[in-house]
Amino acid sequence: MTEFNEAKYAEGREVLVSVHDVRRTFWRGEEPVHALDGITLNIYRGEYICVMGPSGSGKSTFFNAVGGLDTPTSGRVFIDGVDMAQLNADELAFLRCRKIGYVFQQFNLNTTMTALDNVTLPMVFAGVSADESRARGMALLERVGLGDRWNHRPKEMSGGQMQRVAIARALANNPSILLCDEPTGNLDLKSGKDIHLLLHDLNKKGGVTVICATHDPNMLSVSDRMVWISDGRIARIAESKDVEIAQNSLGAGEEED
Ligand code: ADP
Ligand code: MG
Repeated sequence: MTEFNEAKYAEGREVLVSVHDVRRTFWRGEEPVHALDGITLNIYRGEYICVMGPSGSGKSTFFNAVGGLDTPTSGRVFIDGVDMAQLNADELAFLRCRKIGYVFQQFNLNTTMTALDNVTLPMVFAGVSADESRARGMALLERVGLGDRWNHRPKEMSGGQMQRVAIARALANNPSILLCDEPTGNLDLKSGKDIHLLLHDLNKKGGVTVICATHDPNMLSVSDRMVWISDGRIARIAESKDVEIAQNSLGAGEEED
């Protein structure tokens, strides 16, 4: 196994997200649950990171801390050098609206609204004019391959299409970070692969930094780096190219579902 060399990896890269000894404890009655138990990690601009780990290992809790949806019990999260804990409510709302796009397993679309209205909603919150929202929304739907479906509501779409709308919505305000929490967890294998490829394309061509929680081994092929979380701690970090080599040398099968 090739050891991950942070200093070498960091050469020529710019830190975008910096997580310092983050802990998050929940209480189950009298019992503490250490969902995050001291996570320290730098994420570099333009990276595609896969956060792997079994159910309950702390992936969503980690995402919520990075995305400013939850406050850690201790430790710090810096986005673009800004300590999230130092932001007031308005500044945090601004950051969440403009800098970070969220994609969830359950899509979380507004079911009564068309694809276009779902995509433009975050622009409305950001104060973008109706005309510009519409133009940008259409361009984003084109970008995710749904230009001809702008008028469809979620119930008229497949899971894969709904997730594309959710990705377009996440990109509404041109964020620098896309946080995707098990984006293919509810999709069949083919739709899941298409979503991987779309995220890969957005990352490589659009430059958006992608942080993706998954336990889908197929995600490996599109990521730059993999981080394994176990019991709220980082168990291992590796560059994906090294993982692929290791897998191939073991003669691992094509893919599994
Ligand atoms: P994953 O996303 O990897 O499945 P989570 O981050 O959702 O894991 O959960 C990590 C641990 O924290 C689990 O033991 C879970 O039960 C616990 N946990 C998560 N959120 C809460 C909460 N709001 N209250 C109590 N326990 C929680
Ligand atoms: Mg989760």
